[in-house]
Amino acid sequence: MVLAAIEEFDRLGREEFLAKYGYREARGYFLTHQGRRYDSKAIAGVAHRGVAGRPLRASEFSGGAATVARTLADLGFTVTTPEDLAAESPIEALLGKVMNLETAKSPQTKRPKRHQPLTLLWALGRAARAEPRLVPWETTRAEIGSLISTFGLVDDAPNPEYPVLKLAHFGLWEIAEHPAPPAASGGEPLRWMRRHQPLSGPCDWVYDLVTKDDAVRSRVAAFLLSEYLHDVDQNALLARVGLQAAPVGRRSTTVERIVRDSALSRLVKTLHDHMCQICGIRLMLPTGPYAEGCHIRPLGEPHNGPDELANMLCLCPNHHTLFDAGALAVQGDLIVVDRSTGAPVGALSVVAEHSIDPRHVTYHREAVAGGEAD
Ligand SMILES: [Zn+2]
Repeated sequence: MVLAAIEEFDRLGREEFLAKYGYREARGYFLTHQGRRYDSKAIAGVAHRGVAGRPLRASEFSGGAATVARTLADLGFTVTTPEDLAAESPIEALLGKVMNLETAKSPQTKRPKRHQPLTLLWALGRAARAEPRLVPWETTRAEIGSLISTFGLVDDAPNPEYPVLKLAHFGLWEIAEHPAPPAASGGEPLRWMRRHQPLSGPCDWVYDLVTKDDAVRSRVAAFLLSEYLHDVDQNALLARVGLQAAPVGRRSTTVERIVRDSALSRLVKTLHDHMCQICGIRLMLPTGPYAEGCHIRPLGEPHNGPDELANMLCLCPNHHTLFDAGALAVQGDLIVVDRSTGAPVGALSVVAEHSIDPRHVTYHREAVAGGEAD
């Protein structure tokens, strides 16, 4: 039964299999079979067809350790837990969680609410400044509340108790001395927070990763910005939470360019480790690695491109110049071509957390690299 479900999973592919039976992607509980990973709840539900005559829907039973993992283990299958994954690759575990936040939809805009993304960005800023991990409730409430008011959706109420509790139940946040806080619903959360005045903050392992590794911090920030916050002033948001602040105390021939660099440009460069997305070169200067943040659809008249991460690339100075001049264009499949010969130059290297808006690529190809040639 289980093997038949695995076989169908392999045949359809993960996405189609999950869609067909109405399951979400697993977040930690995976069945491993012949070196491959399968979403354990979906496999168990579909395998149930042999018992009940029809596959179970996701809402008909609960996944996780007590039920699905136990049953599959009894049948002789290996099921990994979130803890296994975290131990194996904490960075992947963190990114996996961040990329699968359970955000409700805003009734008015029909878009995912921004409470949890903003709460995480706030914590990333604290991590960047190496500030204490756990913060008193009143500070948490005031600072996150004001972020939600400024950068949230129109109907996002500034109630930080919800994202804090959500993230705690989701395994990314710790409420010190309260291992079993209330659920994030109804009127209880605020009353509970007021009564207990807890210290809270990201879990130890999360804070550890984002404090000591700015590449990880950038990947988390980049995903949150592009997934949830694409129409806010992203530079202002990064500045507000204290992420990607301008380097201080640098004095060198490159200082002018560094100082004029925006927070977003610094973010895109950290994200790609200062490697050109076209040629892979990472220039080393005496002051450190050097690359440039490049807007795909140019800012300002007549192009009026947006200053957002989805409109940016990390390039070496040569490719930046060629790209801005329209000597290079990026095709829909992200192959970079030399416009004068049409010859491919290479594939744009990308990272999962930095999604490039294809509309900006099309605009650049048609309005900047297009025009009267050919
Ligand atoms: Zn290059």
